[in-house]
Amino acid sequence: MKPSLIVHGGAGNIPDAAVNDFRRGVRSGLNAGWSVLSRGGAALDAVEAAIVALEEDPALDAGVGSHLNRDGRVQLDAIVMDGGTLKAGAVAAVERIRNPIRLARLVFEKSEHMMLIGRGAEQFAVENGFPLCDPEELITDVARDEWRKTREPSAAGHAEQPRGTVGAVALDSDGNLVAGTSTGGTRGKYPGRVGDSPLIGCGCYADAQAGGISCTGYGEGIMKVVMAKMAADMLRDPGAVAPRESKDSDTRIAQSVAEACVRILGDRARAAGGLILLDREGNPAAAYTTPRMAYGYVGAGGVLNIAP
Ligand code: ASP
Repeated sequence: MKPSLIVHGGAGNIPDAAVNDFRRGVRSGLNAGWSVLSRGGAALDAVEAAIVALEEDPALDAGVGSHLNRDGRVQLDAIVMDGGTLKAGAVAAVERIRNPIRLARLVFEKSEHMMLIGRGAEQFAVENGFPLCDPEELITDVARDEWRKTREPSAAGHAEQPRGTVGAVALDSDGNLVAGTSTGGTRGKYPGRVGDSPLIGCGCYADAQAGGISCTGYGEGIMKVVMAKMAADMLRDPGAVAPRESKDSDTRIAQSVAEACVRILGDRARAAGGLILLDREGNPAAAYTTPRMAYGYVGAGGVLNIAP
């Protein structure tokens, strides 16, 4: 099977001056994930590598550089999900984990549970020899300045937030399909608030019989429409978005699904956001209703396609 990879660096009102930083972040995520997949590596390793690179980029709202919550602290959420077994590993509201996607993977591989939060998640990390970091390490000057200016989440919702969550979906040469999402959440969020990102079916979903999805945007809206699972259901049975008699290509169908999902997010939840996906064959698609979304995928011949 031909491997495939798509990543995102969040939907929001990315300022013109920051576009290159976002492109750099997306490129580093794609390079990290593709270096695994192109050598025949596993989708799980590719998603982890891609998201670690995105978490390490201070321009993006995940890991280092995340938005601060109301109390001026960083609380991180992440999930990874395997489309073969439908098993996920997720962590939420962790403060001393530099790369929460790695801890999500540890939960996926070593816990009988699918989600651990806060102190329990950090205890699980310690018990498994996973390093804790100094929470200050996650805070950049930019994020602290933004927080000083505006501690309240914007009334205009996600369309005004300058940056968002990160995510990746990979299909490997053995046909394994994996999706992951990692975030610092929304700026000024209430301490302990958990958004859509680490919730199975909301900010992430993977089903090898349908596709893999990672979402970004206003979490309270994405949760209402369970957007990632909605996209998976549409990919499984695209009748509603692409009538069976139509001669649409699989790529076009995947794109129609992505667009239908963000339309429903706007219509039913009055929220802005975006998503990336791979269908079960690895065809990529992306859609968003925010002014911009940073994303990229590896096209034919290993060429990187990056937006904005
Ligand atoms: N969806 C994330 C959340 O609500 C934020 C984002 O995607 O920017 O936590």
